[in-house]
Amino acid sequence: MKIKETILVIIFTCVTLISNSQVINRVAPPFWWTEMKNPELQIMLYGDNISEYNIQIDKNELLVGIDKIENPNYVFLNLSIPKNLQATKLKISLEKDGELIETIHYELKKRIKSKNQHQGFDNSDVVYLLMPDRFSNGNVNNDSSPDMREKVNRENPDGRHGGDIQGIINHMDYLKNLGVTSVWINPLLENNQEKYTYHGYAITDFYKIDPRYGNNEQYKELVNKAHQKELKIIKDVVLNHCGINHWWMDDLPSEDWIHQFPEFTRSNFRSSVITDPYASEYDFNLQQNGWFDVNMPDLNQKNEYLSNYLIQNSIWWIEYAGIDGIRLDTQPYSDKDMVAEWAKKIYDEYPDFTILGEAWLQKIPITAYWQKSSSNFDDYSSNIPVITDFPLFNAINQAFSEEQSWTEGMSRLYYVLAQDFVYEKAMNTLVFLDNHDVTRIYSSLNKDLNKLKLAIAFQLTTRGIPSVYYGTEILMEGYAHEAHGKMRKDFPGGWPGDKINCFDETGRNIDQNEIFNYYKNILDWRKSKPVIHTGNLTHFVPENNIYVYFRHNENDCVMIILNNNESEQVIETGRFNEILSGYTSGIDIISKSELKNLNKISCGKKSAMIIELRK
Ligand code: CA
Repeated sequence: MKIKETILVIIFTCVTLISNSQVINRVAPPFWWTEMKNPELQIMLYGDNISEYNIQIDKNELLVGIDKIENPNYVFLNLSIPKNLQATKLKISLEKDGELIETIHYELKKRIKSKNQHQGFDNSDVVYLLMPDRFSNGNVNNDSSPDMREKVNRENPDGRHGGDIQGIINHMDYLKNLGVTSVWINPLLENNQEKYTYHGYAITDFYKIDPRYGNNEQYKELVNKAHQKELKIIKDVVLNHCGINHWWMDDLPSEDWIHQFPEFTRSNFRSSVITDPYASEYDFNLQQNGWFDVNMPDLNQKNEYLSNYLIQNSIWWIEYAGIDGIRLDTQPYSDKDMVAEWAKKIYDEYPDFTILGEAWLQKIPITAYWQKSSSNFDDYSSNIPVITDFPLFNAINQAFSEEQSWTEGMSRLYYVLAQDFVYEKAMNTLVFLDNHDVTRIYSSLNKDLNKLKLAIAFQLTTRGIPSVYYGTEILMEGYAHEAHGKMRKDFPGGWPGDKINCFDETGRNIDQNEIFNYYKNILDWRKSKPVIHTGNLTHFVPENNIYVYFRHNENDCVMIILNNNESEQVIETGRFNEILSGYTSGIDIISKSELKNLNKISCGKKSAMIIELRK
């Protein structure tokens, strides 16, 4: 470029900047699409006294109205996008006293669905939950960001350790090899907080991937690459709260955007209040409106602009990145009517999608309340089909460490499932041994490999959708009573220079390979077994510390034996005849051994058998 031209370009650029004197600081959603099923779109514009400007859109017929609210720095444009509208850029202009002050071009993109997008997940899937800061560091250059307050410090268990999106992309073959089919990633959105940002639940920008993980484009790339490998991606979504450093906290759209108290007021975390017929208003208000933590203000989803903002935000990410499912954080803490509307609007747009709700409750009926279409006393339906099964998680964590009694030991598993009638669809429960918020199962079972195998065999063959917490397959340890960061340690081998690499078979010790292969063997088998995904479950009351159940459909029948005794047991099978009769032999897919006599089955101490029955 010649010097003269360069000078002209510089002058032109300056003029453009001056004429566009930047009133608009933020636009949300940043863009949208044509041909959505719901024609409505509400655009938030944020800027100094923006409500004092005359706002025009070149395609004026799309504009339903402009809402001004309490804070003059916000306006909301309500649009209705006709079904036949082609992709376009809307010219949104700000005028004052007849003078054009600023113009932005708002893009309405054409929807492009690539292969496998929004496909949902179900009982045929197995979820792998990973914490992105702690899984693998694929790019050491983004460990800290000049724009983000907290810098990397791998020495601090509760600090940022540098894991990122590239690290997940780099290890997709590991996940494929393990045999899981879906990856639930803890939140990746910006958390520009002072500390504890690694867990991701204090979001400071709902439209932006945290730069320490990568960027929006890279997230999309992650989803595409996962789909190429036939892995599904589940996004972790938070509606209940944001981070204290969220950009809107300095200039709230309205007083009621968040729940405010004269002094810091924490939630009582008693989600039972929602369904409790005797709950006091005091307790109810604390649960619903109290803050999740000092750094996590409670969002008021009853505010319709906030509610719209959050609903559109979820739809934006589904459409933009092509994700397959959402895990909703802290489901009972958000306004339940808003949550139901949020889920409905997502399903209206993406019928094959799957939403999983975190309903962290200790008891079964109050867990079931949060599942779609449960027969609830108040006819409430969350529209969320899949629910975390914490009661079963509790039972699993206790059952294998106790002697059986009427209600304890193996009876715990039996009694949880015996109450499945309260669910609209008990098959739609997430079955997990541990997750990022609880003591790791290997620690909880006092590092007993046999107990762990029993738990895994149960998890992968009972009803529901199994979810594996990263590192459980390589015996990672961590107790909830220690720092939370210690339940979320770095996956060995995920960082350049790690002395041990557990992503590789040769880097795992004997015990780690034993459990990795135990998982892998059952997971690989499970993939092609509809009888385990959706088959009927028939179980028998545990006797002598042994729990026996069957998964069966028209074509197949699988017998599962969990022997929780410290000695080998010979099981007389007469009482199972209603299922067993007609079958003459079987193959135990764990030991690969053939059983030729089904009248008496010998099962090793503290071990499981998964027997494919043959006629
Ligand atoms: Ca990094």
